[in-house]
Amino acid sequence: MKIGIIGSGFVGSTAAFAILMQGIGREIILVDKNRKRSAAEADDLYHAVPFAYPLMVREGDYPDLSGCRVIIISAGVSQKPGESRIDLLKRNAAVFRDIIPSILKNAPEAVLIVATNPVDIMTHLTVRFATEGGFPAHRIFGSGTTLDTARFRTLLGQHLGIDAPHVHAYVIGEHGDTEVLPWSLVKIGSVTLKEFCDRNGVCLDERMKQEIDDRVRNAAYRIIEGKGATYYGIGSALAKLTDVVLHDQRAILSVCTPIDEVAGVSDVTLSLPHLVGGDGVLTRFPLTLQREEEAALHRSAATLRQYLDGLETV
Ligand code: NAD
Repeated sequence: MKIGIIGSGFVGSTAAFAILMQGIGREIILVDKNRKRSAAEADDLYHAVPFAYPLMVREGDYPDLSGCRVIIISAGVSQKPGESRIDLLKRNAAVFRDIIPSILKNAPEAVLIVATNPVDIMTHLTVRFATEGGFPAHRIFGSGTTLDTARFRTLLGQHLGIDAPHVHAYVIGEHGDTEVLPWSLVKIGSVTLKEFCDRNGVCLDERMKQEIDDRVRNAAYRIIEGKGATYYGIGSALAKLTDVVLHDQRAILSVCTPIDEVAGVSDVTLSLPHLVGGDGVLTRFPLTLQREEEAALHRSAATLRQYLDGLETV
């Protein structure tokens, strides 16, 4: 099973490393406009193969993507300290205008997973550019808030003393400043968060919730401040998404897709829980939110819509 990665910078090469170390697929093709970089990353990654799983890693050009089942798109420019994800938009939109047709021409059967930021907008544009050429929209999604959801579950799990996969919680909306942590939907096993805390004598007051919210929402800013980029978390999330598609795992994940109408806003791409399998996005889960959560989702959707409105020329 062949996997293509477009953009083999920090995110793309770390995704490749996570894929390789877990033995997902059989071949990885790295495509980058800086071919010296992709060749060097491919060589370096290939030297990890003897310590992991039998898998081929090589650099290539778009025709080498032929036969790929999954293509990760992480090409673009990364967020600089103090720069918002939205500031990246115009530079990355121009990159996508070039690369999407080249991907689809060579790998028309692939599922596309977008990671480039601002990921909601870039996924929206990918769907727009790809469907113009007849590519089915359900085979495109963005990593969205997959990573934010993982951070939320981990921090909450730590506080409650529960292993994160057993904390059912999602971050929805924009992957970014306006993302929404709907606390009312959190379940621990089969019980609500409040029930769990009451039964087990766990304190989770508004101040603690605020602290968790801040650590989820602003995690990327802190990491970028400290080391210039984030890549281990997103690389691992992309490996998971690749595994789900390649093995038709039918996982519920907070990926982003275009939605006709959400919280009173039309035609916007953002994250909600989706069922994901071998053919991409299979269905979306409706959410019953509390009034203030619905209002926060509206703000998030409206913010994204505003950016899209400003992109008429793309
Ligand atoms: P990076 O600068 O290390 O790598 C980007 C790579 O894209 C470079 O190697 C560059 O040569 C390549 N590239 C640029 N234009 C290209 C083109 N036209 N064709 C092919 N390759 C091209 O950046 P990074 O840290 O790897 O980040 C990549 C993207 O991922 C950024 O947009 C970043 O903001 C985003 N990101 C997303 C998440 C998420 O949760 N979705 C998390 C971290 C980073």
